Amino acid sequence: MRLSLVTIFPDWFSGAFADGMIRVAVEKQKLQVDVVNLRDFTDDPHRTVDDSPFGGGPGMVMKIEPIDRALASLNVGEKSARPAGTRVLLTSPQGRRFDQRTAIEWAALDHLVIVCGRYKGVDERVAERFIDEEFSIGDFVLSGGEPAALVVTDALARLQPDVVGRFDSVESDSFHSGLLDCAYWTRPADYKGWSVPEVLMSGHHANIERARREEALRRTFDRRPDLLATADLTSADRKFLRTLERERAQERPAEQ
Ligand code: SAH
Repeated sequence: MRLSLVTIFPDWFSGAFADGMIRVAVEKQKLQVDVVNLRDFTDDPHRTVDDSPFGGGPGMVMKIEPIDRALASLNVGEKSARPAGTRVLLTSPQGRRFDQRTAIEWAALDHLVIVCGRYKGVDERVAERFIDEEFSIGDFVLSGGEPAALVVTDALARLQPDVVGRFDSVESDSFHSGLLDCAYWTRPADYKGWSVPEVLMSGHHANIERARREEALRRTFDRRPDLLATADLTSADRKFLRTLERERAQERPAEQ
């Protein structure tokens, strides 16, 4: 897939793209990332991308013209004239919260464009005319959309085919199947007398698989019970969760 990041800080991404899964995805030609410098689409000597807000008040607002031209250079014009398989996003704390389900959806697109916002915000006509969706990476305010665009790039890179060595690793990760992942241990089996669960050393694959599944269910139950409502659960999973519920109820101190 192709990912185009429109930003006033193109250098911001270079370190992050030089290592890890993003680099692997690019090297394997599963991902093409172009970083588009918004200032290249200005037409004044100061390469101005912002201006003060109509109505006054603090902060600056990103101008529409450079964004319009940058998107035109990527062949993604107004929303109405956009090819299927292409989506243009804007970073915004007010947007839809990015999650693994969205990552899976976007990873299947041909071309994803992310406009990185800055300053107090972006001229609203950009969202109205050009943006298919605004997305947020959480309920906090960043100084710019670049970290959010990087988060999305990383999440999509590892979902491209043949990027992560074994795709079943991606599938067992948290959220992918609707649960949190299980816990992991590695050598040494004994460290300062701190041991690891015996079942993992047993070599009995069916038991190991069941123990991991139960650990994933236990973690999800304790840390993110909200996920259980939509997770894909077998009857054995449901039975285990009922046992867990009873166990937890017994652990709770009796109400006064
Ligand atoms: N005045 C805006 C915040 C501006 S922060 C408001 O209160 O809604 C500057 C820019 O950083 C935003 O335009 C957006 O592009 C980006 N940004 C800030 N927080 C973000 C978040 N949680 N997720 C994604 N982008 C964010």
